[in-house]
Amino acid sequence: MDSQGIEAFHDVQRLIVVGAHADDAETMCGGTLALLARRGVQIFLVNCTLGDLGAQDGSTLRPALAATRMQETEAAARILGIQSTFTLGYHDGELLPSLELRAELTRLYRITGADTMFTFDPYWTGQIHPDHRAAGQAALDAFIPAKMPLYRPEQLAAPGAALSRLERIFLFATGGDPDVIVDVTPVYGVKMEACLAHVSQFPEGEKSLEWMRELDRDRGEAAGLPYAEAFRRVEVW
Ligand SMILES: [Zn+2]
Repeated sequence: MDSQGIEAFHDVQRLIVVGAHADDAETMCGGTLALLARRGVQIFLVNCTLGDLGAQDGSTLRPALAATRMQETEAAARILGIQSTFTLGYHDGELLPSLELRAELTRLYRITGADTMFTFDPYWTGQIHPDHRAAGQAALDAFIPAKMPLYRPEQLAAPGAALSRLERIFLFATGGDPDVIVDVTPVYGVKMEACLAHVSQFPEGEKSLEWMRELDRDRGEAAGLPYAEAFRRVEVW
């Protein structure tokens, strides 16, 4: 296990985080995002789906729910210090690591100038949500083509766009054997507040997030910390 904690990210200046649903990044790595934002890292958050299945009852209208979830994402981003959010238009529960999604992600890598990417570990066997696996797979699959000038060259004509500068990848929701453990205890209140901004998902407040607190406690326990978040580093080349 790597014990360098948040210092594992000391070179990060511009970070893009690819999740499937509004609230994924906040619950999986919101503490780390809060810490990095405080260090001046520019953070860009991508939610691949509209999150339009995340309702407590069947009478909810899906377009209205999608609109609510975008507002909740913005509110959470303000709390964490995230600079920009992007919601791609895919339907919740139907995300695939398609060529189209890959291209949308290369476009974002190219226009944000991100040097580091966080996403779901698509290879963790415990990851049973298909959207999480798809988001992680597509985010990884976009890494190489985003650096190739002949891949979708029209993306490079956009103002400010350039070939991808991504150098580092870290996977969250990674199961048993992470190699970066970040102490998020000092910002746990901020993480919780950002998660609670997703009112539609956590209607009972902190009670609805007891599962997250347990997960972060378990991660911390292994490293002698009250609360921690865990990542697996991808060796890029
Ligand atoms: Zn999710």
